[in-house]
Amino acid sequence: MLFSPISILAVTVLSGLMSMAVLGSLRAAAIPGLTYWISANALSIVAFVLFAMQGHAPRGLTILCANGLLAFAMLRVLNGCRLFFGRRREQWQEYAALAAMVFAIAYWTYVTPRIDIRIAAVSAFHAYVYFAIGWLALRASMPQRPKYPYRFMTVVSFLGGVGHAARGFTYALGLVHQQTLLESTPVNVAFLGIGILLLPCLSIGVVMLAHDRMAERLERLANVDELTGALSRREFLAQGQAMAKASRGAAKRLFMAIVDIDHFKSINDAHGHASGDLVLAHFGSVVAGNLRASDIFGRLGGEEFAVFFPAEEGNEAAAMIDRLRICVAASRCRVADAELSCTFSAGIDEYRAGEPLAELMARADQALYAAKSRGRNRVAAAWPMDREAESA
Ligand code: GH3
Ligand code: MG
Ligand code: MG
Repeated sequence: MLFSPISILAVTVLSGLMSMAVLGSLRAAAIPGLTYWISANALSIVAFVLFAMQGHAPRGLTILCANGLLAFAMLRVLNGCRLFFGRRREQWQEYAALAAMVFAIAYWTYVTPRIDIRIAAVSAFHAYVYFAIGWLALRASMPQRPKYPYRFMTVVSFLGGVGHAARGFTYALGLVHQQTLLESTPVNVAFLGIGILLLPCLSIGVVMLAHDRMAERLERLANVDELTGALSRREFLAQGQAMAKASRGAAKRLFMAIVDIDHFKSINDAHGHASGDLVLAHFGSVVAGNLRASDIFGRLGGEEFAVFFPAEEGNEAAAMIDRLRICVAASRCRVADAELSCTFSAGIDEYRAGEPLAELMARADQALYAAKSRGRNRVAAAWPMDREAESA
């Protein structure tokens, strides 16, 4: 009795209600696609109640409406996922296919009653939607995010796709015959069970996606400095440690530059703190635009920053930071009353295997001090440099 089609429908309706409650609790976070997923749950609950009434209510409701609503609900899930992943949404061909499916159901209900063809048509539609969702989740590139929620969605969706495709073929090829939808034959119960119970799994999947999006936002808030776009000090040190650890055995040389904007106080004094903020943001974007993917850039505090990066050797590392210096000095930042420019001084030294980053930063800071005292707007290395390489 537990495995009768009716009890499977009842379990699904209950889990749909719970999914709505969980998704509803995330509404304040305004996750793209969330309202689509909530409405999909509501639609599918109505559809399942209608399915359960087969034999006790008009077929227009229990077959046509029920199937149409469920298919529409699945399209809502798909389009919610498209919104979530920032893809193209709402394709009219899919609604046309839905309409064609409902038309086919009507024909094989009223004109030539054939439940197997109806099941085949409905299964084909659902298989398409499941595969489309699985494909989206598979292709979504979410670097730096845990893979689990995306893999979960892919696996559940592809299972759904395969299950519906198998069901469609089984009925289209006439391998089984049945008179009504809710018959308790083993094949029917198995397909209904797999097909219907995958829906709660899909809901769990979208809840995972929504949670991951919220976690991503919080991590971003904690790890990235809002004003300059640089990493926060804590995140810079954490990523720096990880880079240092990974460099061991890789024979990769790493360098640390401590970068401090010159006479920044006078920019604040002359143009106001808000303009100073704009200059900091401008500085952040110029630096970010000139770094490579291998380099990390953090704000240590105030107008002091750090870059940790690989280079073949010292002169190359110093030359790279000097190019950055020239870019920043040449750029202009529009503020309310003027066009401002700024320069920076930097101190640089090489990472020594196994040492704490704090020691490296202290040496680079010493070099920065030297650059400042030699007149600013220059890069100084902690090691002795030939006059050629040293910038002025
Ligand atoms: P130096 O060339 O020796 O580095 O001179 P400086 O003026 O840049 O250095 P100093 O340390 O004397 O002043 C740094 C100033 O940066 C003081 C502080 O008010 C300002 N500052 C720190 N953080 C911010 C910020 O987030 N926004 C703005 N507008 N100013 C900031
Ligand atoms: Mg300064
Ligand atoms: Mg300073």
